Amino acid sequence: MALLQIQEPGGKIAKPLHRLAVGIDLGTTNSLVSASCGGGVETIPDNGGEHLLPSVVYYQKDQPALVGSEAKALLVEDSMNTVASIKRFLGKSQSELQAEHAYLPFEFDPSRSDSSPAIMTADGSKDAVQVSADILSELVQRAETCLKGPLEGAVVTVPAYFNDAQRQQTKDAAQLAGLKVLRLLNEPTAAAVAYGLDSEDQGNVVVFDLGGGTFDVSLLSLKKGVFEVLATAGDTSLGGDDIDHIIADWLAAQMHEAGQSETLPKARLLQLANSAKHQLSTQDTVQIAAAGWTTELDNKKLKQLTSELVRRTINTCRRVLRDASLAIEDIDNVIMVGGSTRMPIVRDAVAEFFGKPPLTNIDPDKVVAVGAGIQADVLIGNKSANSFLLLDVNPLSLGIETMGELVEKIIPRNTSIPVAKAQEFTTFKDGQTVMSLHVVQGERELVADCRSLARFELREIPAMVAGAAKVRVTFQVDADGLLSVTAEETSSGKKAEIQVKPSYGLESSVIEEMLQASHENAQADMETRSIKEAQLDARQLLDAIANAIAIDGELLSEIEVQKLKGAITALENIMISGSSVEINAATEALNLVSSDFAAKRMDLHIANALRGESIDAVEKQTD
Ligand code: ADP
Ligand code: MG
Repeated sequence: MALLQIQEPGGKIAKPLHRLAVGIDLGTTNSLVSASCGGGVETIPDNGGEHLLPSVVYYQKDQPALVGSEAKALLVEDSMNTVASIKRFLGKSQSELQAEHAYLPFEFDPSRSDSSPAIMTADGSKDAVQVSADILSELVQRAETCLKGPLEGAVVTVPAYFNDAQRQQTKDAAQLAGLKVLRLLNEPTAAAVAYGLDSEDQGNVVVFDLGGGTFDVSLLSLKKGVFEVLATAGDTSLGGDDIDHIIADWLAAQMHEAGQSETLPKARLLQLANSAKHQLSTQDTVQIAAAGWTTELDNKKLKQLTSELVRRTINTCRRVLRDASLAIEDIDNVIMVGGSTRMPIVRDAVAEFFGKPPLTNIDPDKVVAVGAGIQADVLIGNKSANSFLLLDVNPLSLGIETMGELVEKIIPRNTSIPVAKAQEFTTFKDGQTVMSLHVVQGERELVADCRSLARFELREIPAMVAGAAKVRVTFQVDADGLLSVTAEETSSGKKAEIQVKPSYGLESSVIEEMLQASHENAQADMETRSIKEAQLDARQLLDAIANAIAIDGELLSEIEVQKLKGAITALENIMISGSSVEINAATEALNLVSSDFAAKRMDLHIANALRGESIDAVEKQTD
């Protein structure tokens, strides 16, 4: 694999000789744009040399919106018209937002429905897609000025745990900003792309991303330029913002305790808290002065205030290791991503947990954007497609319902995508011409415990005896996590197909619950499954024998009938409450008792056939 060069930050950007595609890190707090310029990918600064664009938009009447630091400066002064952290609003309803946020500095437009909330501003109401589009437009403008040409496409990053609605609204925002989205890329994966390409390391890597509003941990395996995401976990509502709030609350309490009569607006408190937090990343103590009053905060106190939050991030690391069935010793590198990983408290906690210092040599603010830019360059065709392969995983197993309400897993959880897998199924009944396919997602053995994704039918299967038809079911998951399921009867070529979006429809908490349940119930599920399978086998044998007795009962002597009936009753009784082993034993016993009868029937049918009556005709009578 050829190594890409990364230019020095601030180095001159050469006019590119190829198609213009950018990588965009649309962050909760800060956004960035990057592009490949000649040799390497780097983030693009504004005229003042600033790479980070604060994700803040200020709306004013009859004037264009202000985006970035100018808007951020107005957050306290005019909080009603200044929108920050809009990423937290993407794909959410108004009631969800109100439940999630104790404090919202603006008002919702009462004329909008709960499912499409918008913020009232001096420039009319703005929803999350519009505000995000304004941020993206600013980045597009910056890139087009710098690259001197119109953009042909972009890779936009999203947190790994964004659900379908959140991903869709991110795409909508890009479209509104006039951008063609080449691919939505998970942020931790983008960070790994940035690191993987300029490092020859192999092994397992944890990406720890603590930004302003989201937290993601991913476990990736790197092998000769191939990345594979083994597992991911995270929290869409955890980040540096929360630390600001913790410090602001502490400040307010301190002021109250000191008998300060003057109370500061929340926005001002947050500003003071944020600035103190940043200073504590490079010094041990900070003086905070406001309204003629001064206090001191040090890292020891900050550690105490944030211990619960930091513990949550470490617990998530533990969960990811468990999901990937890896131990701490198996981790070769830990990559730090996101501005909040500059905090010594966070770095120390991560270093302590993994037993090694994390990698911080690529700027944690820029690493995601750089990875997105590299991926954009590949997707637009500037790099040969095999210069590196980028693999993602499906978070939960995908499978199909089989007889007895059991789940047959086709694509196991954490399989790298894109992927296609096929399995053959058959009919359960003689003459069955329709097969009903039920696509499910989850780790449990029973359909009832999994999530139903889609149902469809394969019709016009040629009528055959049970088990003769061959239906090939193919599951295909593309790079964006879109699943298509095809069912084809191989002798007739009859086909049916359906498309579903399995990976993104679930909240992280739901995925977590489903996994938890599968761990807890694995043992019981296996036995339930075995029992169901044993019951199915038993039922098929009982039906076949009942059928045979109805047609050829006269072949049996009274004693044989008694023996057979005894074995049938025994099986019928044990089927209701027996274990899988007991049911299988009873089925086997009945099989044995009925084998003479089966032989006699076979002789009779051959004799009939010799008399000119075909076996086919005899079999038809059994329908
Ligand atoms: P996002 O990906 O959510 O947009 P970023 O990766 O840009 O976020 O990180 C923003 C967060 O990082 C903010 O909460 C900010 O306060 C915090 N941050 C940035 N620099 C520092 C620093 N030097 N010390 C502590 N926190 C920092
Ligand atoms: Mg980020």
